[in-house]
Amino acid sequence: MNQHKVIATDSQTNHKRASMIQVGLSACLAGQNVRYNGGHTQSRLCLDVLSEYFSFNTFCPEVAAGFSTPRATMRLMGHPESPQLVFSNDATEDLTQKLHNGFEEKLATFKELDGYILMKNSPSCGLERIKVYQANGQVHKTRTTGLFTQALLKAYPHMPIEEEGRIHDPKIFDNFITRVYAYHNFRTEILTAPSLHKLINFHSRYKYLLMAHEQTQYRQLGRLLSGQKKLTLDQLVNTYLSAFMTALSKPASKQNHTNTLLHILGYLKNSVSSQARAHILQTIDKYQKGIFPLATPLTLIKHYLDQYGSDYIKNQHYLDPYPESINPLRKYYL
Ligand code: SF4
Repeated sequence: MNQHKVIATDSQTNHKRASMIQVGLSACLAGQNVRYNGGHTQSRLCLDVLSEYFSFNTFCPEVAAGFSTPRATMRLMGHPESPQLVFSNDATEDLTQKLHNGFEEKLATFKELDGYILMKNSPSCGLERIKVYQANGQVHKTRTTGLFTQALLKAYPHMPIEEEGRIHDPKIFDNFITRVYAYHNFRTEILTAPSLHKLINFHSRYKYLLMAHEQTQYRQLGRLLSGQKKLTLDQLVNTYLSAFMTALSKPASKQNHTNTLLHILGYLKNSVSSQARAHILQTIDKYQKGIFPLATPLTLIKHYLDQYGSDYIKNQHYLDPYPESINPLRKYYL
């Protein structure tokens, strides 16, 4: 009996994992002892919080390339636009190709990933501010991106990618998770079997989230779908995805949230009393002035939308860009 219970639990766990969003993760952040010093840099945020929602695909490009653990530290050297990987204590051997050989095939298997979380400051995995040394030992003013991450960005230019250190900032965390879910929705709803009809539906559900993030790009995306430019379906899908992910990567400003809330309030014009609308308007005004967090007008509007809103407005991703339980405090610091 107990054994049956265990088997059922395992199968449920497997099912849950299979249906989870897949996100790449630097193996050292997952607690694997792959760092140069034989240790790890386990991320509690990834392992305790995000692992409830994401199935992590862990990878260490340096170990995959055959470097031992522990190993001598490595650094980037040469010109910031095309640096070479070398050992920090002996720059005579160019290790760049060896690193590339280790991750080239693996990169092709990342098509199902909806995001990637990387370890900072690594000449392989770092996303930004990676030092590049000159032959005289001085550091270039211009910093760069780790070599594995450069290849990852080239292969998957629209995938949300962040450093683990940065996602401890609540606003960056919110923006990253929003983009992971948006990218996942685009991949599964559009890329699996693209059609103009699906693309228009997708755009209509993201209308207010886009408006909150980037108003100019939101209007451009609308024009793109109206067919003014003569594009094939493939071109349209790719152009849309690129502009869509770029728009979401810009943090939503207070002014844009305010405009978006006012637009959404318009959907309650004929169903909510003028007194209730005046009350919502007051909370939006206080949000704009920094007196209330976004949670106040948003919760109030959602309360009325639940009762009187059309399916169109209730299905807007702006209202819930990702499961609230990942980040229950989200609306209190936006
Ligand atoms: S930062 Fe990247 S290369 Fe370095 S140990 Fe972690 S996973 Fe491996």
